[in-house]
Amino acid sequence: MDAILKDLTDAQASAVTHIDGPLLILAGPGSGKTRVVTHRIANLLKHGVQPWQIAALTFTNKAADEMRSRVQKLAPQQDVWMGTFHRFCAQRLRRYAPMVGLSENYSIYDTSDSKQAMKRAIAAAGISTSHASPEQIASTISSAKNRLVTPEMMEGQALRHGDAIAAKVYPVYQKQLLTANAVDFDDLLLHIAILLRENPEVRAELDAKLKYIMVDEYQDTNLAQYAIVRALSIDHPNLSVTGDPDQSIYGWRGADLNNILDFEKDYPDVTTVRLEQNYRSTPNILRVADQLIRHNRRRKQKGLFTDNEEGEQVVLRFFEDGYKEADSIASEIANAMATEGMRPRDFAIFVRMNALTRSLEHALRNSAIPYQIVNGLAFYQRKEIKDLLAYLNLINNPSHDVALQRVINTPTRGIGATTITRLRDYADSNGIPLLEAARRADEIDTLAKRAKAMIWKFVQIYDRLVKKSTAPLEDLLRFLIEETHYEDYLEKTAVEQQDSNPMANVDELVTAAVEFDRQHPDDGSLEAFLEQVALVSDMDAFEDSTDRVTLMTLHAAKGLEFPRVYVIGVEDDLLPHARSKETEAQFEEERRLLFVGITRAMQWLQLSCCKRRTVRGDMRPVIPSPFLNELPMDELRRVESAVERDFFDEEDDLDQSYPDSWDLPDVTDDSPANDSANDSNTSDDSIASDDSDFVHDPGPSIDDEVCQLPDDDL
Ligand code: ATP
Ligand code: MG
Repeated sequence: MDAILKDLTDAQASAVTHIDGPLLILAGPGSGKTRVVTHRIANLLKHGVQPWQIAALTFTNKAADEMRSRVQKLAPQQDVWMGTFHRFCAQRLRRYAPMVGLSENYSIYDTSDSKQAMKRAIAAAGISTSHASPEQIASTISSAKNRLVTPEMMEGQALRHGDAIAAKVYPVYQKQLLTANAVDFDDLLLHIAILLRENPEVRAELDAKLKYIMVDEYQDTNLAQYAIVRALSIDHPNLSVTGDPDQSIYGWRGADLNNILDFEKDYPDVTTVRLEQNYRSTPNILRVADQLIRHNRRRKQKGLFTDNEEGEQVVLRFFEDGYKEADSIASEIANAMATEGMRPRDFAIFVRMNALTRSLEHALRNSAIPYQIVNGLAFYQRKEIKDLLAYLNLINNPSHDVALQRVINTPTRGIGATTITRLRDYADSNGIPLLEAARRADEIDTLAKRAKAMIWKFVQIYDRLVKKSTAPLEDLLRFLIEETHYEDYLEKTAVEQQDSNPMANVDELVTAAVEFDRQHPDDGSLEAFLEQVALVSDMDAFEDSTDRVTLMTLHAAKGLEFPRVYVIGVEDDLLPHARSKETEAQFEEERRLLFVGITRAMQWLQLSCCKRRTVRGDMRPVIPSPFLNELPMDELRRVESAVERDFFDEEDDLDQSYPDSWDLPDVTDDSPANDSANDSNTSDDSIASDDSDFVHDPGPSIDDEVCQLPDDDL
């Protein structure tokens, strides 16, 4: 049998061999949905479909890379487009930029850039932040964008007070972005969706080119993403989507479960394939997962069975505090490596928010266990890296106002805050970018003579840098470091900040540039490099390492699998998160998040919970997650410890026994969920003070800003 159809069940094979017409693959975790997508791509190629006629859309770069490597094995040398929605849109937007008022070298503002821009827009709109916080305004605008609501549309709507304020800021913010020749992450989707909606020729052209579109994890698409794939599948409705409503974890960012539930309505002649066999996990793990998810009322029960061996019982374990939890996990991993021949890559530890990884890192380091944190953003959030990237951004796009504000006085050149404010006022009142205002500094009466001289000096440095902009990236970066005396500056400030080794980070960025030059000998442009960097998310590993323990958020774990999984901090206010408990829809989404975590495990799983946890240096008492009460206690191996009784006043709470989970009567109702749609979350921390210690950045494909509690100091 050919490799494409080998090792597929009949149901999987029927999906893989489906060629034309809409296809919906609806199935639970570990049933081979992603496997079907990769095999189907190989099968299409085998049947003469050209690689450039196919696009496979994923939610993370990591998922796309994984998919690419699987397809490469089945169909070597075929260059099929695979990537995230945001990357897909970013690349299309390069081509159609002028149609939405941008130039091709437009910049992508990352979360902290957008935050800066938002603050400026709020000030320019004359809004006082005493009634609505910048975070709330940003969140309302983001959610409007995800629903394809433009500033004009929002203005016309009857609005609640908070929304009315956001409606005033929205057009100002958009105008400033256009002036800066920039987009935020939401705009990538918004611009393309509106372009497709309003330009029938563009839509038809792209629809004809991309005849076969596939979307994995379709349950997490928002309206903008839905509109994009829908618009590209009208003349050639060969859209294939895979998903599992029980794994929908982005409601708070506008994901709409109805997109998957209504697929059959959108495409009446759809072929629907259901996969019922799980190949990933032991029956033990699946029973625990199933029992948990049955507590969601808004869902449809699915049958899922496995022929895998029974395996070990799922462990539920209680610890005194986060340090003991981390130490225990590290020593167990070390032990399994020493005595059972396990490799570091066999283990993953999932957390609800990035800050929880710190105690784990410490413990793993102490046990000399190699690990990686899947938070690709961490590197790009370092001050020195942000400084250099800001220079590169400004070289690429002279209108990049946020970059200019960052670098005009970095390294220090005696240009103070007042000077910058005056420049900005001048730029705002003339509708020009800041760099342009800087060039006209002589005309600005409010500026002191000395300030004008300093600004002029900066403009001259900038002009020298721009002359190098077409050089290989490595040369440009080295030239930039030299011209700005950046090393001297770092040496001075690093001493003040007692920073570990910022120069090593700079070297790492140079290495990344060398690598980029090597990979793009012909088409490597500064713009492409910046795009790649801007679209890195906290779902990506900075370096893809082969043999390390993986530490990641539950959101980032979606779609992946590991032989042994630890989910730590299954505690109230963490999971469910304190800010996601208000509505039943939010609560159910948190339950799905735990469900996603549990179903990543292949052979072995431990859920743990502490008695106390340190948050911002404060040791606080902890209540176990209410989800623990929902697990089938007779299926779990509970590791007893002295502290346990303190947790539960009534031991019975935890000891509820359930009948055999697979035979439970259906406790769900069949009404599809729809109220989690557009349930954007207003996170207090989503707009923190600028870059200084902005640990979390939502990024284009995932963000757990909703799960960012105050940064803790474990
Ligand atoms: P999720 O919902 O978590 O994304 P999924 O449905 O996409 O899961 P896959 O990741 O495609 O599931 O598959 C789960 C695991 O099962 C993978 O290791 C895959 O290789 C394996 N698998 C799937 N189908 C088969 C099969 N027919 N024979 C052997 N292994 C299989
Ligand atoms: Mg999958």
